[in-house]
Amino acid sequence: SRLVDMQSRSEEERAEVSLRPKRLADYTGQPRVVEQLGLFIEAARGRDEALDHTLVAGPPGLGKTTLAHIIANELGVGLRQTSGPVLERAGDLAAILTALEPRDVLFVDEIHRLPTVVEEILYPALEDGQLDIVIGEGPAARSIKVDLPPFTLVGATTRAGLLSAPLRDRFGIVQRLDHYTVPDLAHIVNRAAGLLGVGVEAEGATEIARRGRGTPRLANRLLRRVRDFAQVRADGVVTLDVAAQALDLLAIDASGLDAQDRRLLEVLVEKFDGGPVGVESLATAMNEDRGTLEDVVEPFLIQQGYLQRTPRGRQATRRTLAMFGLTRMEEGDL
Ligand code: ADP
Repeated sequence: SRLVDMQSRSEEERAEVSLRPKRLADYTGQPRVVEQLGLFIEAARGRDEALDHTLVAGPPGLGKTTLAHIIANELGVGLRQTSGPVLERAGDLAAILTALEPRDVLFVDEIHRLPTVVEEILYPALEDGQLDIVIGEGPAARSIKVDLPPFTLVGATTRAGLLSAPLRDRFGIVQRLDHYTVPDLAHIVNRAAGLLGVGVEAEGATEIARRGRGTPRLANRLLRRVRDFAQVRADGVVTLDVAAQALDLLAIDASGLDAQDRRLLEVLVEKFDGGPVGVESLATAMNEDRGTLEDVVEPFLIQQGYLQRTPRGRQATRRTLAMFGLTRMEEGDL
């Protein structure tokens, strides 16, 4: 089963790479991010300088990696890709930094997971373009400074809150990605369908978008599964009906919520009477880490009007209570 797992993962990865937009103009949605980055990139290009170090934060699948590649593309420079947990020793990062070409982009995914020893050699590299390397051990050890070519660090994180303050402060540009609206996701699905050669009607794309949890990665994945259904059970065209039947078969909730979303709401309603309850208690009851709840699960539920953050804690909305067949007695209801 691990082999099958690996196969499906690489199919997924291949599909993702092929669907990734390469220019800022093809990056759907996120208007604020696109406008600001477009401006900063143009300015850096005009001055023949490296772009300022850029942090991109947001839940998984919203387009952080895509944006890093677009930045390099628009700057007309190379991109080296690595990730926080892969860089175990200071030397791992030093080897990558010293091999960069001037103005290259270094993309570090999951940058909140950089080990401290690696993070510490990153500071002078970001600040002064220098590496402090210690050679030898004990009394013979000495430190040498190596000048680095100018470069742009693009860091991606799902957990901006876990970044140490000194690291966060070294990013001149910080962008936060939000969940996509249904029209934006429908646009992404349409574009992907075009690239994959799938016939899709507007209502079919919208139905996939509605169930895509505001997340391009998920919407594109659903499109590929709906395409299979359309091919085998229909005439290949993704109509509203075909999309709805396929997604029902896959047990994709019509509200676009996933299993973890539903569990949070279930625990909130059934164990805590709909709240308000502190996020720590909610996390413990779900056996989940608090930060993951705050950074990965809650943003979509709040945006969709299922959850409120109040000064007294997390609270279910009327919409959530209605979903569980409950209503809340409000003052004045009687
Ligand atoms: P992240 O790095 O945030 O987990 P990715 O950048 O890997 O997410 O995005 C996942 C997939 O979603 C990409 O392969 C791409 O096809 C699609 N995607 C993400 N953002 C956009 C966007 N703004 N416009 C079009 N497609 C997008």
